[in-house]
Amino acid sequence: MNFCKLCNSRLLQKPDFSLPNIPSAQGFTTSKIGNTGNLELFTCPCCGLVQLTSEPVSYYKEVIRATAVSKEMRALRLKQFKKFFEKYKCKKTIEIGSGTGDYLEILTKVNKNSFGLEAGKNGIDACKDRGLKVFKGYLDRENKKIPNAPYDSFIMMNFLEHFPYPLVALRSIWNNLTDNSFGFVEVPNFEETIDEHNFLDFVPDHLLYFTKDTLSLMLNLAGFEVIKIESVFHNYILQAEVKKRILPSYANFKTEVVRLKKQIEHLLKKFPNRSLAIWGAGHHSLSLMSICGLNDKKIKYIVDNAPFKQNKLTPATFIPVVNPDYFVKNSPKAILVIAGGYNDEIVKQINAFNLNIKVFSFDKGILKNEK
Ligand SMILES: [Zn+2]
Repeated sequence: MNFCKLCNSRLLQKPDFSLPNIPSAQGFTTSKIGNTGNLELFTCPCCGLVQLTSEPVSYYKEVIRATAVSKEMRALRLKQFKKFFEKYKCKKTIEIGSGTGDYLEILTKVNKNSFGLEAGKNGIDACKDRGLKVFKGYLDRENKKIPNAPYDSFIMMNFLEHFPYPLVALRSIWNNLTDNSFGFVEVPNFEETIDEHNFLDFVPDHLLYFTKDTLSLMLNLAGFEVIKIESVFHNYILQAEVKKRILPSYANFKTEVVRLKKQIEHLLKKFPNRSLAIWGAGHHSLSLMSICGLNDKKIKYIVDNAPFKQNKLTPATFIPVVNPDYFVKNSPKAILVIAGGYNDEIVKQINAFNLNIKVFSFDKGILKNEK
C-alpha cells in the first residue's frame, strides 16, 4: 500500500499511467551495464498530487544541473533574484540544493550574505572552487539544523520534486528561518505537461509533478503562506513566493482571562449573595461562568429564551436556567447579559419589562453598564 507524499491518503493499487523503459536523467555510463525500469504514475484521489511511488534515483540528494550553459536562464535568474531581494528586503539567504553553484553565484552577486546547502561532494567542491559559501547537508529530518541558521530567506530551484519526503524537507527549512522570512520555490510545471501531453517530462528523478494547486497545498502544509504563484520560462516552470506563517500568540488571551475575572469579581462585590442573575446560556456565557468560578450561591439564576435549556442546570457551574416569565416574577437586583451578537436585542427585551433593576452587558471583553 502506498500513501500520498502530500496528504498521506491511500493511493490506488494500480498506476494511472505507466511508461516502459524510462532512464534516469543523470545515469550516464561508460559501460553498457545497467537497465531501466517502468515508470508508474499515481494521482492522489484526495489532493490530486501526481507522484511516483518508486524508490528515488541513487543520486537523489544531489543537485545536478546543466543550466550554466544557458545564457537566457542565467539572465532570468539574475532578474528573478534581484526582484525577490528588492521586494522582501532579505539579508541572509540559503539556497537548498546548490549543485555546483550556478545559481548560488548569481545569488551571491545580488546578496553577499548568501549560502548554499548541498549533499553531493562534487557540487560542494565546485562551489568552494568558485569561492562560494556552501555547507554539506540534506534535509531528511524536520529538526535538521542548517549551519549558520537562522536565515531570513531561502531559495529552492527545481529540487523539491526530487524529494521522497518533501514535507519533511520544507518543514526543516521552516525550522531554520527567522519569524519574518520569505522563500522562492521553483518546480517543473505539470500543468504544461498535461496541456501539451508531453509524456517525455516524466522521469524517475522526479517523484512529484506539481500544479499550482498541489504546490500551494504542499507549501501551506509545510507552514508557509503562498504570496504569489505563476508559471515562467516558456511555461515550463512554476514559481512560488512564500512567507513563513507565524503562529498566533496566546499571551493576550491570558491577560484577558485575568482582566475578565477582575471585572466579574468587582460586579459581584456590588451585587453579592444571589442578587445578580445572568441572561444567556450560550457557550460564551457558560465558559465565562466556569472560568470565573460562579455558582448558584453567587448567581441567582440564568435566563434563556431557548425552551430546551430551561428548567435545567448549566454544565460545570450547576446554576438553574429559567424562562423570561420567571425572571419578571422573581427579578434580581441586577442582570448581566452575555449573549454575544444578541446582547442589544436582549437588553431591549429586558427594558420593555420596566423592572427596577440594573442591567449590564458583556461582549468582546467589555463590561457595559446598560441601565
Ligand atoms: Zn494526496
